[in-house]
Amino acid sequence: MKAAVVRDFTAPLTIEDRPVPEPAPHQVLVRIEASGLCHTDIHAARGDWPVKPSPPFVPGHEGVGVVERAGALVRHVQVGDRVAIPWLADACGRCDHCVTGWETLCLQQHNSGYSVDGAYAQYALAHGDYVVPVPDGVDPMDAAPLSCAGVTTYKAVKVADAGPGSRVLVSGIGGLGHLALQYARILGAETVAVDVTDAKLELARELGADHVIDARRQDVAAEVQKLGGADAAISLAVSNESFAAAYAALRRGGTLVLVALPADGELEIPVFDTVLNGTKVVGSIVGTRQDLAEVFRLHALGRTRVIRETRRLEDVNTCFDQVLAGEVSARLVFDLR
Ligand code: NAD
Ligand code: ZN
Ligand code: ZN
Repeated sequence: MKAAVVRDFTAPLTIEDRPVPEPAPHQVLVRIEASGLCHTDIHAARGDWPVKPSPPFVPGHEGVGVVERAGALVRHVQVGDRVAIPWLADACGRCDHCVTGWETLCLQQHNSGYSVDGAYAQYALAHGDYVVPVPDGVDPMDAAPLSCAGVTTYKAVKVADAGPGSRVLVSGIGGLGHLALQYARILGAETVAVDVTDAKLELARELGADHVIDARRQDVAAEVQKLGGADAAISLAVSNESFAAAYAALRRGGTLVLVALPADGELEIPVFDTVLNGTKVVGSIVGTRQDLAEVFRLHALGRTRVIRETRRLEDVNTCFDQVLAGEVSARLVFDLR
């Protein structure tokens, strides 16, 4: 099979021929149809974060394909089912986090395309209990971005407690942000979209953002404060200054939800203002299998639109450059069919 491999944090990915792997009794072998490019894959390939993956590894955690083989212990899916392989490759299933609906916080978890090989390949192995079925009627090319960008922002909007009457700032209208905006609207919130490229600002308008702010030319916090401040701000831009702007855009009692993970990501928080304003700052990491099932259901009902362009896996390095230059419409998806 063909796979894109990270051999070195400072070198481009290589396209390699590898043997198709054998599933263990608890695993499925998935023939990948679509594999989304999340900005996290770029962080992974460059070793941007304090906890690093070990090269060589295959990135990719927005994998969607068909189960081709299933190990003897696999019960929940069958050969022929279409499934998604998300970031949460598996978790222990027994700790307090796992049993209280916070499996994404499990200390024993593995992560697709990071601590185990991911979906930048024609085949991938996955845990039979942790793949999520993709409903009929959801295009696999849409299902791929929903498997991380979708579930992560759906969860972030829940964590933000967005709802009717609340004003939600979405900072960064990229792969994640264009979906965050839609989930905030589905929940009934007034939405404020922020980005730094004309195309993304236009996309935000097209997706129905109530207010659109160009962070290159406008003072984000001042503009949002003119509206009364944000009840919640969701930080999806790979930029430390965007975090400070989102924090300063909050109204009293507001919540900053941190999602983006730049290399050396830092936010300095003034204690006095945070205390007096009753501000909440919370991190949010992907979502559970249940969150992803809800994301797929909403999409099957026609409530969300995935803005994406298809690419060949061989062009992965050019694709990374295009995402970093902000030149993609929202999400790139490798078509492996
Ligand atoms: P992306 O590159 O598709 O989108 C980033 C967007 O931010 C782009 O539209 C860009 O134009 C915009 N932007 C850049 N600077 C800005 C600024 N100063 N203000 C406002 N917008 C600005 O990236 P993505 O795939 O959406 O991922 C975003 C981040 O989220 C990455 O760091 C990724 O690793 C992280 N992530 C986190 C989780 C999680 O569970 N916490 C999950 C997936 C991705
Ligand atoms: Zn991701
Ligand atoms: Zn656990």
